[in-house]
Amino acid sequence: MSKTVGIDLGTTNSEVAIVENGQARVLPGADGDLIMPSCVGFDDMGKLLVGREALRQYAAAPDRTVRSIKRWMGTEHQTVLRTGGIQSDETKTYLPHEISAIILRALKQRAEDALGDTVTQAVITVPAYFTDAQRQATKLAGEIAGLEVLQIINEPTAAALAYDARSEETERVLVYDLGGGTFDVSVVEITGEVTEVLASHGNNQLGGDDFDRRLYLYLADRFRETHGVAVPDDAATQARLIRAAEQIKITLSHHAFASVREAFLGSKNQTALHLELEVARSDFEDLIRPLLEETLEAIDRALADADLKPEDLDRIILVGGSTRIPLVQQMVEEHLEQPPTDGVQPDLCVALGAALQAGVLSGEAVEAILVDVIPHSLGIEVAAQTPMGVMPGFFSVIIPRNSVVPVSRSEVYSTASDHQETVEINIFQGEHAIAEENVPLGSYRIEKIPPRPAGSVQVEVHFDFDLSGMLTVTTTEKGKGQQGTLIVSGAGIQRMSSHEISQAQAELESLFQSDEAGDTPDTPPLDPALEDLLNRAYQTLPTLETDQAQELEDLLGQLEAAIASQSPALAQVQEEVSDFLYYASTAQG
Ligand code: AMP
Repeated sequence: MSKTVGIDLGTTNSEVAIVENGQARVLPGADGDLIMPSCVGFDDMGKLLVGREALRQYAAAPDRTVRSIKRWMGTEHQTVLRTGGIQSDETKTYLPHEISAIILRALKQRAEDALGDTVTQAVITVPAYFTDAQRQATKLAGEIAGLEVLQIINEPTAAALAYDARSEETERVLVYDLGGGTFDVSVVEITGEVTEVLASHGNNQLGGDDFDRRLYLYLADRFRETHGVAVPDDAATQARLIRAAEQIKITLSHHAFASVREAFLGSKNQTALHLELEVARSDFEDLIRPLLEETLEAIDRALADADLKPEDLDRIILVGGSTRIPLVQQMVEEHLEQPPTDGVQPDLCVALGAALQAGVLSGEAVEAILVDVIPHSLGIEVAAQTPMGVMPGFFSVIIPRNSVVPVSRSEVYSTASDHQETVEINIFQGEHAIAEENVPLGSYRIEKIPPRPAGSVQVEVHFDFDLSGMLTVTTTEKGKGQQGTLIVSGAGIQRMSSHEISQAQAELESLFQSDEAGDTPDTPPLDPALEDLLNRAYQTLPTLETDQAQELEDLLGQLEAAIASQSPALAQVQEEVSDFLYYASTAQG
């Protein structure tokens, strides 16, 4: 029987995991790396690259590469990529779910290669705060990738599932998830094998990318102060500087200072200008503190929604790459007056939890039961009695946020005016009392209502929210039977017929077949010694203790940045990685 996989489709990185003998494990790619950067590109030959290969060319070829697509999921944002060979101007325009489909297809390939079997079903995680449109886009991406998406689950819930120190006592856990592009905080209650989300809050436009951007602006300012000219605003230079900013950020997680040297960043009077400076951790912390303060407010809101105080929490779990930043740990600890739990793998626990849920759904013997909640209230626009008479435009909640899914609820509404012949059902999600301030999900009209006085015709509106986040709205006019049904499949996301999905699948398949891409494309034009070094490093990574692994990751980041920018520092970084591996292997005996 083929396996159902769990997928963490992250802004920056993605992972795929399975359950074997009741235990979840993350599947490595051909390079041995458990983490696959969520990056897609086309190389100079027009060949599809996914994962680390794509990320490696990002700084040098931003017009051929896309990353952090998750931030755009559920919108019509278009990414234009150069897809042809170096001589060609060929481009192709992608919607966010199409890029995500490529990433998911590569993860499917990775799982199939690792397992030697086909993989057709998956559980995929999304931030708890993702809107309906974003969830639908994620599901659609899965389908285009050839995966039946059994369930979309919330990332913090998955993280809590993976956290295995279960006791029979009820534990209240706060999951603080700060990734590359999104932030979530959830309060979760774990009793034995049952995990229940009590409340979730967050911001799906806040994450490590924002820290990079702030640092980037800081670097650009320093450059202008030093040289009296601005950093050139071409995409390649900006990509280099963003990449440098991320490296500095990561280095500052372990060191008090980070030095940066980006050669030939600009020129003045035909003289090349370099960016060379040292950034102190405290400078970086000043840049990001206001953003982190917002995350503390979200913690307070989630706790208030769950009706808990900080001292009621038994544990705090930090998830997401950005929680490696010491200031994040410090601010969360000070705010909640309790240190976060050690020993949780912030990068992998979401995928592990998704795999556990996949195991449960496919009938494996797994000790975990998931109870998830809806992140936003769902309801319709109604007219309401006000001091100025009956006014339209109010939001009437049918399913309140934080209800456990699946959930069905009904409300009965009456006509607002005399001889009203139609009723407009406008569906929204959100928390604002004014309907228009919330996110519209869809609408339809009930017609041919018998002309009667206001209030005498009653319509029941039934909301059915299923496990995969699909909302079905049914209306029934009292005494007349069912009037209409609407399956809400995401505002802002184009609907696709099954024929269109099959077409998109076939197109994606051919892209993969012709390139045999997966995340293991043909050998790039890299020096064999360098290729060997990279392979050894990625194989060593999973065998190291956290601190050492982090150090090696930092070095690898620098190495890849040096490769991408063809920096003169390459030889030196190469030697550092080589030395590191030598000492690591002697230390391990
Ligand atoms: P995730 O979406 O959970 O994969 O997190 C990715 C984000 O974490 C990116 O913005 C990374 O730059 C950031 N990140 C990864 N490692 C570190 C680190 N050691 N220090 C600071 N940020 C990091």
